[in-house]
Amino acid sequence: MALFNSLNLDDKKNNQQKNIDEVSEHIQVLVIGSGPAGYTASLYIARAGLKAVIYQGMQAGGQLMETTEVENFPGYPEGITGPVMMQDFQKQTERFGTEVRWGEVTSVDFSKKPYTAIIDGEKKVSADAVIIATGASAKYLGLESEQRLKGGGVSGCATCDGFFYRDKVVAVVGGGDTAAEEALYLATLAKKVHLLIRKPFMRASKIMQERVMKNPKIEVLFEHNTVEVLGDKTVTGVKVVKRKGEADEKIYDIPIDGFFLAIGHKPNSDVFKEFIKTDEVGYIITEGKTSKTNIPGVFACGDVQDSTYRQAVTAAGSGCMAALDAERYISEMEFNKEA
Ligand code: NDP
Repeated sequence: MALFNSLNLDDKKNNQQKNIDEVSEHIQVLVIGSGPAGYTASLYIARAGLKAVIYQGMQAGGQLMETTEVENFPGYPEGITGPVMMQDFQKQTERFGTEVRWGEVTSVDFSKKPYTAIIDGEKKVSADAVIIATGASAKYLGLESEQRLKGGGVSGCATCDGFFYRDKVVAVVGGGDTAAEEALYLATLAKKVHLLIRKPFMRASKIMQERVMKNPKIEVLFEHNTVEVLGDKTVTGVKVVKRKGEADEKIYDIPIDGFFLAIGHKPNSDVFKEFIKTDEVGYIITEGKTSKTNIPGVFACGDVQDSTYRQAVTAAGSGCMAALDAERYISEMEFNKEA
């Protein structure tokens, strides 16, 4: 019986391998990622009469799903929440025929045409053109204690996990707009928010800094670095060093219940690196003012290729550019086939 079962398993494995080797579907324009860039790209593709399929990726809707109020996207005078905005983006592109699918692209082959992608390690699709819109993900400090306590009070997303910290004490690390936004959001729930900033100043925009400074629940701690997140199974505190390396350096513990990271993002380009040129950080390099990568027919838009602006509206704008570039590429391809 045991032998029979193991033969069955081997058969299954072989069949799965065979299925991955075979292309199960051809897609005209494959859009990878479902933030403002991916949805806008697919909207333009679909309105141009081409067929777009989006694979949403690990975080459907992208980083805006982790945002509370978006006040700077034109067209929403009263502001809108990130998740509602992303639902609207999705509905709008689906209205014109885009197929939005669950699934993550786990590998690609851009070495020959048609380009192919493996979805969730189990299905292979091919495409005439590919638009990469995989965005960026929250960074962590890289401490062992931080990794160990992920899910036990360490989080990269205040909007997702803030709910659990009603009337509790939390710390947020970072001095940019994300940290300011997360601290302000957490202050609506928590009893107290410690904002740990490594420099003697904040990098956040003036308006966000003012809001943080005015909030009585937020204590801003400049020149503070995290040494360790404390706790066995759940977070109980954070060990910090104040004015590291200075004569008055001080190491002390702050009792907290939750530890939130808001120290920037890493571009999600690893899966493409074998074929697509990136800079040293991992941002995809695009040609001049276009969305063209080093591979003809593969385009990149949004935060995965933008280390400078990183806004929802700039991501959407670059999604539009990628769609227009892909449309031109496909019409030239078809013209050359007919000629
Ligand atoms: P930023 O890169 O702007 O800021 C990152 C912050 O984290 C900086 O204060 C940085 O410190 C700090 N940091 C980085 N690494 C470490 C570390 N190892 N230890 C401690 N601190 C660290 O990232 P954001 O995510 O805040 O913002 C990204 C972009 O998105 C910006 O352009 C921002 O304006 C925009 N944004 C806009 C929003 C809005 O308008 N509603 C909301 C959120 C973001 P240091 O300054 O010392 O480098």
